[in-house]
Amino acid sequence: MTDRLARARQQMAERGLSSLLITPGADLRYLTGYHAKPLERLTCLVLPVDGEPTLVAPALEKAAAQAAGLTIDIATWGENDDPFSLVADLLSEGTIGVDNQMWAERVLTLQERLPGSHLTLAGPVVNELRMRKEPAEIDALREASASIDRVHARMGEWLRTGRTEREVGADIARAIVEEGHEAVDFVIVGSGPNGSSPHHEVSDRVIEAGEPVVVDIGGTTPAGYCSDSTRNYVVGSQPPDDYLAAYAALEQAQAAQRAHARPGVSAESVDAVGRNLLAEAGYADLFIHRTGHGIGQETHEEPYIIAGNDLVLEPGMAFSIEPGCYAQGRWGARIEDIAVCTDEGLEVLNQRPRELVVL
Ligand code: ZN
Ligand code: ZN
Repeated sequence: MTDRLARARQQMAERGLSSLLITPGADLRYLTGYHAKPLERLTCLVLPVDGEPTLVAPALEKAAAQAAGLTIDIATWGENDDPFSLVADLLSEGTIGVDNQMWAERVLTLQERLPGSHLTLAGPVVNELRMRKEPAEIDALREASASIDRVHARMGEWLRTGRTEREVGADIARAIVEEGHEAVDFVIVGSGPNGSSPHHEVSDRVIEAGEPVVVDIGGTTPAGYCSDSTRNYVVGSQPPDDYLAAYAALEQAQAAQRAHARPGVSAESVDAVGRNLLAEAGYADLFIHRTGHGIGQETHEEPYIIAGNDLVLEPGMAFSIEPGCYAQGRWGARIEDIAVCTDEGLEVLNQRPRELVVL
């Protein structure tokens, strides 16, 4: 049994769970190393608090599971078998944690088949593990961040007036792969008014001189870890004065958050440090989202850096610090770094300059 499975069982025991049921997704990959496709045929890790774990899988997926280096037992089912009775046979009655992203049709079928058991979310168990990164995971995040930094460093090759966001975005997407990612997760090129929508992707809008452009990009490396970094650009001429004033306040807020975040402070205090500075500068209404999110094998995972989250940061926790200002219909700005708590402080993994880049 792997160390992660053993630690998951410890968490289950503390929380009174008798078993975990984990279907394909980031939790399964984290716990077993098996990056299974989410298919209609049921694949499910059955992890009892005592006793051996088993992967229930379609017979035709067995070779793929073995190729992933799985060391646990695999119980296969044929095309005409009922996989849910196979799962039920491996369980004893109790409180059973199902992965947070399990499909509803599976949860409802399990509920029907296990009338003597209570289903609950496996998230609290798995997230306790996933949000404290192991040294190898931090190395993988460092590598992912260095890769996305190399893409930002090349922005002058593509970002020019007269080109559309979509054209620039296609070039960025190619570079995300060229610079060491296996997959492109998202490309946001928000020019002028489009920048004021934080999750704008790309459009056919032509980028004009003097317009601020928010570029927020990320991918997944072959090791399975994600990058996510935002920088701000302007091409051709001076951006509006009110934008420059807000940008200066945003730089200060983000720097203060980086200086504050460390083991022993709460997630919500990191948010508050930046939010208070922006409010003092008169931009309270423009900072319309939380400060950040954890990152690992998924771009967004725990811990969330948001008001109301009193979680105390610990060494190994990795998350984004990404305050933003959005003037609706005019412009947007966001500065985003991935950082990880070390034993005493914070290691910021993205290294590109944070000031407005004039191309
Ligand atoms: Zn982010
Ligand atoms: Zn981002």
